[in-house]
Amino acid sequence: MTAAAKPLSVHLIAGARPNFVKIAPLWHVLSQCDWCQPFIIHTGQHYDISMSDWMFRDLRLPPPDFHLGALTGSHARVTGSIMMAYEKLCLDESRPDWVIVVGDVDSTIACTLTAKKLGFPVAHLEAGLRSLDRGMPEELNRILTDSIADLLWTPSIDGNDNLLREGVPPEKIELVGNIMIDALFAVLPTVEKCKVADEIGFVPDKQYGVVTLHRPSNVDDPAVLEAIVRELCDAAKKVQLIFPLHPRTKRGLNLAGLEDQLTGAGVRLIPPLSYIPFIALIRQASFLLTDSGGVQEETSVLGVPCLTLRASTERPVTITQGTNRLITAENLLSAVREAMVTERNPTAIEFWDGNTAQRVAASLKNAAGKVRQ
Ligand code: UDP
Repeated sequence: MTAAAKPLSVHLIAGARPNFVKIAPLWHVLSQCDWCQPFIIHTGQHYDISMSDWMFRDLRLPPPDFHLGALTGSHARVTGSIMMAYEKLCLDESRPDWVIVVGDVDSTIACTLTAKKLGFPVAHLEAGLRSLDRGMPEELNRILTDSIADLLWTPSIDGNDNLLREGVPPEKIELVGNIMIDALFAVLPTVEKCKVADEIGFVPDKQYGVVTLHRPSNVDDPAVLEAIVRELCDAAKKVQLIFPLHPRTKRGLNLAGLEDQLTGAGVRLIPPLSYIPFIALIRQASFLLTDSGGVQEETSVLGVPCLTLRASTERPVTITQGTNRLITAENLLSAVREAMVTERNPTAIEFWDGNTAQRVAASLKNAAGKVRQ
């Protein structure tokens, strides 16, 4: 780098738990590059200690460079407050050369829209995923973000196909692989030393299932949630269930008065775990029952049977090549029975190899025209 060359100022936008997992490998690579200066912008969408601070610690991330202080509440409040705070940041304090957004949360579209209207180039990491269910708030965020971002980094070939079908010019699309798997591989040595029993406050049974739910379609409607809880209580008669509760799910269970039903049936309700103990817990589990996006991917790579309580998935490769299957409340119990006798089958999916952050860095450098390293 010449003395006069200024490093590329790159904003890494992260607002919610899965975003922290996605920016971590990239921050670790970019912070080692002399042509680039990454800044972590925490939008404040997820702010409590287990969903944010502990995730930063486990992912070995430094404290965020900037906090946007998102309001809580409706999508409009969250998105609007992030947009106003991010615009101010870009204009007054930290002007980016590139903005990198990840995933599909409100922070993703809020900062994409703000940056684009200010004229800054945006790259979307984990572009092209589609559940084809526009009732999902995340699907709207994905479609809108991909339609205006300048550079679209996809995790798997179906992402390229989706974008091409939507008319995105091929030169904007690059298959880089799955950044979450970089994060997973990075923590595995530490995960092996993690004493799960200490973390969760009890010794799990030999066979156990882990439950994570937080999609609005499952936890916001008390009738839907009650039907799921009924099935979980039945499943708990067959196998121990450990259920780290997302704040949204805790709220849903409280509002519907369903927490006691679950604990009465023996389901172990625990607070959200930070990343390392969570991976340690799922690695040893007989199965995962989830509606999470990222967990479908992690279980595929770990070879743990995954039952996804959703009508569709934006990660079809986890079904065709991984351990994932879609289930409903009606077939939950039979799916659990089958998963308990399913053999573990870790999968090698193309480009889910721990080197995605390196490919993203190379792509960014190329796009920014910075041939200075
Ligand atoms: N995760 C975690 N602790 C938990 C539950 C999940 O660290 O108690 C991690 C999980 O390993 C994955 C990410 O959080 O890396 C997924 O986040 P979430 O399910 O909230 O979001 P989604 O992937 O559905 O967008």
